[in-house]
Amino acid sequence: MTRVYNFSAGPAALPEPVLRQAAAEMLDWQGSGMSVMEMSHRGPQFTAIMADALARFRALLDVPAGYEVLFMQGGALGENAVVPMNLLGQRSSIDFVDTGEWSKKSMQEAAKYARVHVAASAADSGYTRIPARETWQLDPEAAYVHICSNETIGGVEYGFTPDVGTVPLVADMSSNILSQPLDVSKYGLIYGGAQKNIGPAGLTIVIVRQDLLGRALPITPTAFNYRVVADNGSMYNTPPTYAIYIAGLVFKWIEDQGGLVAMARRNAEKAALLYDALDRSALERGGLFVTHVARECRSRMNVTFHLRDEALTAPFLAGADARGLVQLKGHRVVGGVRASIYNAMPLAGVQALVAYMAEFEAAHG
Ligand SMILES: *Cc1c(COP(=O)(O)O)cnc(C)c1O
Repeated sequence: MTRVYNFSAGPAALPEPVLRQAAAEMLDWQGSGMSVMEMSHRGPQFTAIMADALARFRALLDVPAGYEVLFMQGGALGENAVVPMNLLGQRSSIDFVDTGEWSKKSMQEAAKYARVHVAASAADSGYTRIPARETWQLDPEAAYVHICSNETIGGVEYGFTPDVGTVPLVADMSSNILSQPLDVSKYGLIYGGAQKNIGPAGLTIVIVRQDLLGRALPITPTAFNYRVVADNGSMYNTPPTYAIYIAGLVFKWIEDQGGLVAMARRNAEKAALLYDALDRSALERGGLFVTHVARECRSRMNVTFHLRDEALTAPFLAGADARGLVQLKGHRVVGGVRASIYNAMPLAGVQALVAYMAEFEAAHG
C-alpha cells in the first residue's frame, strides 16, 4: 500500500491513525459485534459516540456556556439558506463581506430570503485581500453580518476577528475551523462542512448562541430549525452517524497532537515553508511561481499560486502526480495550483512539494 500526499481542498486528507482505527473497528466496534454504520442512532453505543464527539469538539474550541453545538446535514451551502431562515426573525436585511467565491454563493442564496447588503467587497482587488474593517459600511438594522473566514478557492483568510458591535457575527468556517484556537464568544453563529478540516462529507457543524434560537421563519424545514435540532440533541432526525464517529476520532487525534495551539503552530510552519518558496521563486529565480494574494491575507489552509507561463501548469501537475503529490489543480474558477494543507497534511508533505517545486524550477526556470 502506498499513501500519497493528498492536497485536496475537500473532501480532504484525514489523519492516518484515524483511518487505521476506523479500519480496525469496521466490523466490530468495541465488542458490539457491529459496525458503527449499522447501529441505531438512538442505541446506547451510538449515543455514547455522539456524546463523546460533542464533548471533545466543545473542549477543543472551548465553546462557552450559552452556545449550542449542532451536528447537522446539508453542507455549508445548505447553511447558506438555513442560517437566514433561522436568524432573520423580524429583520429583513443581512450584511455581507464579499471576499470571493464562497461569500458570493452565500449572498446569492440569502437573497432568496432577505435583502442582501454588501458591506464591503474585495472584488476590485480581484479577491486577493480581505477588506480592512475600517472600510466596512455596516447597517445597524441588519439581522447579522456574514463573513467567510477562509476563502477556500481564492486562498484568502481573515487574520483578525472583526468587531461588528451588537449585530451578530456569522462565519462560514468550513475550511479553517479547528486550524487554530478561536474565541467563539465573538460570534453569534459559526458553521462549516466537515469535509475540509474535520472528517468525512455529510456532517455539518453549527455553533450558535442560544439567544439566537427561536427566530426561525415559518417556512423553515423542521429538520433544519436550530431550536428543534438543539432541543433534540442533534437527533431530531437521523444524524450522519458514521461521519460523526470519524469526526470524533479526529477530535481525539487533535487532542493527542496537543490541541489547537499545536495545530496552529504546525499549520503556520507548513504555510510559511510554502509561501517562502513562492517568495524566493519571485525574488531569486525570476519567478516561475507567483501568488497574487496580499501577504497579510494569505490563507494558512489553501495556498493558491500560478505558473508564470500558464502552459507549464499541466506538466507541473503531471510531475507532481507522478511523485505522489496529488489533487493540486486549482479550482476551475481561478485555475493555477492550489495546495490545501489542512491539519492532517504532515510537514513532510509540504517539504516534498517544495522540493519538487525547486526541481521543476531548475528544469524550466
Ligand atoms: C467547501 C466549502 C463550501 C461548500 O460546502 P458544501 O459542504 O459542499 O456545501 C462552502 N464554504 C466554504 C468556505 C467551503 O470551503
